[in-house]
Amino acid sequence: MSVNRRNLVVGSAAIAVGTLAPRVVRAQSATGPFKLEPLDYAYSAFAPYIDKKTMEIHHDLHHQTYVTNLNNAARDNAVLASMPLHDLLGWLGQLPESIRAIVRNNGGGHANHSMFWEIMGPGGGSPDGELLAAISRDFGAVEILQSRFNEAGLRLFGSGWVFVTIIGDGRLAIETRPNQDTPIMDGGRVLFGNDVWEHAYYLNYQNRRADYLKAWWNTVNWRAIANRYAAAKAGALTI
Ligand code: MN
Repeated sequence: MSVNRRNLVVGSAAIAVGTLAPRVVRAQSATGPFKLEPLDYAYSAFAPYIDKKTMEIHHDLHHQTYVTNLNNAARDNAVLASMPLHDLLGWLGQLPESIRAIVRNNGGGHANHSMFWEIMGPGGGSPDGELLAAISRDFGAVEILQSRFNEAGLRLFGSGWVFVTIIGDGRLAIETRPNQDTPIMDGGRVLFGNDVWEHAYYLNYQNRRADYLKAWWNTVNWRAIANRYAAAKAGALTI
């Protein structure tokens, strides 16, 4: 799933670090520069692990709200409208105070959820090749990665995300962030992540986050994750 790919190309050329002055003014659609991509699969694709209703609410309402909030803010702010999302998140501390919280919460939410839908999919296979080699090297085995990832997600208090990040030339690590924060805000790269906000699982699992974390692996598309790993190694991974 490509998110704002067109914006990315324009914005990468436009970014002026230090001034954050937009040099390219993009033609905007009626709704704004940020866009919610439709899912590549059916809302029911992950039942019984994630139910159809949860998928509908999560994508069409929760994610849409982050996009709408960004577009509303972009109307009054040229920086927001002209920089690619990845750069907005990476330069959060340099943004004008008036839009910093909006970008942190809604830009983070847009990036996290776009990644989330991308790395899930029916018939997702299992890791192989370079990705499997990296997992084996850094965790010992896929099952150990999964179990440590689940433990991290379970320990995270309140709402947030658990991520596998890519460090340096390809080393993998597990990290968590509260709310809609992302390692991108600290200059990091996200291989994949799971949403442990209650809205991601409450209809099916109520307070049983551990059960959700365990079941979620059945929705993961390892081919999409392998593509992100390859993109990261090529220096082309954004959100
Ligand atoms: Mn969510």
